[in-house]
Amino acid sequence: MPIKRQPNTVCIFCQEGVDEVTFRDYEVLRKFISGQKKILPRKKTGSCSRHQRKISREIKRAREMGLLRYRGM
Ligand SMILES: [Zn+2]
Repeated sequence: MPIKRQPNTVCIFCQEGVDEVTFRDYEVLRKFISGQKKILPRKKTGSCSRHQRKISREIKRAREMGLLRYRGM
């Protein structure tokens, strides 16, 4: 069985030298949400575990602020 090759994705936050992810970057965070408004897994986004944790936290925060939509809304 052929091994599925991961697309050459690098954590965009590491790439840009961004250490802290904030909900104010919701335009960026939007890229980490699927069509069903679910947070994409790390496999798909290519972000590192450190930033992935921050991303999911800030997405939830952005949702509470009404910057991002909840699922099904
Ligand atoms: Zn990173």
